[in-house]
Amino acid sequence: MMYADIVLPLAQPAYSFAVPEGVELHCGDAVAVQFGQRYIYTGIVWRLHGTRPAVKRVKSVGRRLYDVPLLDERQMRFWEWVAEYYMCTLGEVMRMALPSMAKPRGATEEEFSAEVFRPRTEQYVALAAAWRDGKALAAECDRIRRRAPRRCEALEAIASFGEEGRDADGAVPRRLLDIDGTILAALRKAGYVEVTDRERHAERGGHPLFAPPRLTGAQGRVAGEIRATWASGVTTHLLRGVTGSGKTEIYMNLMAEVLSAGGDVLMLVPEIAFTAQLVERMERVFGSRVTAYHSKLTVLRRTETYMRLLHGEGGELVVGTRSALFLPLRRLRLVVVDEEHDASYKQSDTAPRYNARDCAVVLASMTGGRVLLGSATPSLESYANALWHKYGYSVLGERYGGARQPDIVVSDTMRAVKRGERRGHFNIELIRAMEQALGRGEQVMLFQNRRGFSPFVSCRECGWTMRCPHCNVTLTMHKVSGRMECHYCGYTASVPRTCPQCGTADPAPMGFGTERVEERIAELFPEARVSRLDRDTSTSESAYNRIIKDFECGCSDILVGTQMITKGFDFGRVSVVGILNADNLLNGPDFRSSERAFQLMMQVAGRAGRRETGGTVVIQTSEPENPVVGWVAAGDYEAMARSELAERHAFSYPPYSRLIRLTLRERDAVLLRDGAVWLASALRESFGRRVFGPVSPPVDRVREVFIVQIMLKIESGRPMSRARELLRAALSRISADERLRRINIAVDVDVQ
Ligand code: ADP
Ligand code: ZN
Ligand code: ZN
Repeated sequence: MMYADIVLPLAQPAYSFAVPEGVELHCGDAVAVQFGQRYIYTGIVWRLHGTRPAVKRVKSVGRRLYDVPLLDERQMRFWEWVAEYYMCTLGEVMRMALPSMAKPRGATEEEFSAEVFRPRTEQYVALAAAWRDGKALAAECDRIRRRAPRRCEALEAIASFGEEGRDADGAVPRRLLDIDGTILAALRKAGYVEVTDRERHAERGGHPLFAPPRLTGAQGRVAGEIRATWASGVTTHLLRGVTGSGKTEIYMNLMAEVLSAGGDVLMLVPEIAFTAQLVERMERVFGSRVTAYHSKLTVLRRTETYMRLLHGEGGELVVGTRSALFLPLRRLRLVVVDEEHDASYKQSDTAPRYNARDCAVVLASMTGGRVLLGSATPSLESYANALWHKYGYSVLGERYGGARQPDIVVSDTMRAVKRGERRGHFNIELIRAMEQALGRGEQVMLFQNRRGFSPFVSCRECGWTMRCPHCNVTLTMHKVSGRMECHYCGYTASVPRTCPQCGTADPAPMGFGTERVEERIAELFPEARVSRLDRDTSTSESAYNRIIKDFECGCSDILVGTQMITKGFDFGRVSVVGILNADNLLNGPDFRSSERAFQLMMQVAGRAGRRETGGTVVIQTSEPENPVVGWVAAGDYEAMARSELAERHAFSYPPYSRLIRLTLRERDAVLLRDGAVWLASALRESFGRRVFGPVSPPVDRVREVFIVQIMLKIESGRPMSRARELLRAALSRISADERLRRINIAVDVDVQ
């Protein structure tokens, strides 16, 4: 008897099922299996063997779902690596990696079957064998023309259809023929034609000779360095290129080489918003080779892409967000990771808590492919790998076409207040720069990393603040909706008129978010047309696109926004960029805050003056002496990196160590504390001083659930596999405890 270990899309280990006589299965096949009482799941055949599992009754696998395995050998090894490294089950990898229609689930066989992916089919029309001969058909047409002129016309249309539109055995897609349904039915009935349903194939015209943009001297030199790295057997190259230096042009040149040799290319971008722009740009060079892949596409689209690639013949270019890494690109030769420093590459909220950038490097080393990491401000992890010669490294310091770097003005908020040179949230330097830009018909972008009107309201007399009843956080005031809102759980309440503690009227909005900035602009620049881009205004893709388009076409003069405005957009007419409150960024709580602040401010600054004119960036801060501000003003990445790396080294933070964070969640605060104390001391038995905590995160209660964290810091060079083993042992001890097992524990390896 044969048995199959089946991976199910659950946080559970693989289970063994019997393979009935006569059923032929391969590793990577998708099968239907009954699991538990309630559901039929899609499972993946992971291993076939002859060992009977030690249970009373072994269930049998159900039918095989597709005619090819959903995973090949290489993908299976990759999933195994992800599950091992990030400490989750293969089932959790499966849940994330396969689009949902590829892995149907149902309470009944009917429900399950209804969900199974079927490729879209279309009708194909071919002449019946007897009429393929041109002379025979001509004679027949002459015979019937008087009686049935329209049938004749139809037959001739099919016969004379161009070769390139036909499929391998000469059939023509019905949709390309202008033939009436009744005529076609009659022809079929009379035996003139055969009509079949066939899988619909995307037309993949386009020729394999691509014409990527010609590189400039500096760009060409960098492309040469990248090729040299790869030729020397080093898989990964890091390219640091300032915004507008033409990194994308270099990517396209390297992609063209791979695609014309029949290899597949994957280009990862941190956010969905980037894909549309980039796909358009890629299509101009690579035509129909380009496919977009991200979570906002319909499940049908995503599943179709996955299924199509199973039969791929190479020469595919996928532009996608992190999950695109799990697509079955069978000839993957190159992965480009753009904006490689971006935290969105890390999935933090659910398992597998993987970092797509790091996974790309591992995947490429498994397939013999290459990786190119690009950024204007690389992560210190990647930069350190370059310093240590694990990665190749190039720098592109000039903007394309001699565009100037923006001038950076550091504006001291405290001084402005003292001198009476501050209006609302604007220092005089920023106001002047804006006046000049608007006067010249140019545009302005303003960055404020908080949405809403004000992050909290507070009583002037007793200091009371309004908090969320379900979370340990203040409520944000939103003036547009007229509500107080919790940014963690979505709870809303009306704006308080009096302080519930002392009765004083009108608690004051404190601090400022994007809405309040927008209101101030209206007072300061009543003529200017303002739009705002944040989570509240971009509730749908079309709303988001409208705001971007408005600004692009010059229908608005000033764009205020959160992080959303910092990324990737190339607006030619922006000459002033303001960072309204850099202090928020500089004083983050964790060891990465300086790096993050630098990256974010450089990215915001990169939006200014992308064409000939150069531009001005005004950074408002009460800490003008902060070294990060100095590095941004000088555009000095290397200085930031040297200083930060020295600090990380001194305190043994990444890249000199790896961090594993355990997040414990439970409604019962006492139980949670007991569990956390128990786990921390169990871990100290094996890890000693490498254990930190338990500590409460800044927001330690969300939706009535309390949160506590424990951190493990493992020095680089220490075996991680041993660390995982010890950690697993401690976790299985806690899950064996009657009382403590209730606590939910999430493991996050390489925390962002
Ligand atoms: P990055 O990706 O480094 O921010 P881009 O690739 O977007 O830079 O280049 C910035 C601008 O310069 C774009 O508008 C791009 O079309 C143009 N550009 C860069 N290099 C070239 C080149 N070799 N030929 C033509 N245009 C270029
Ligand atoms: Zn009060
Ligand atoms: Zn809340």
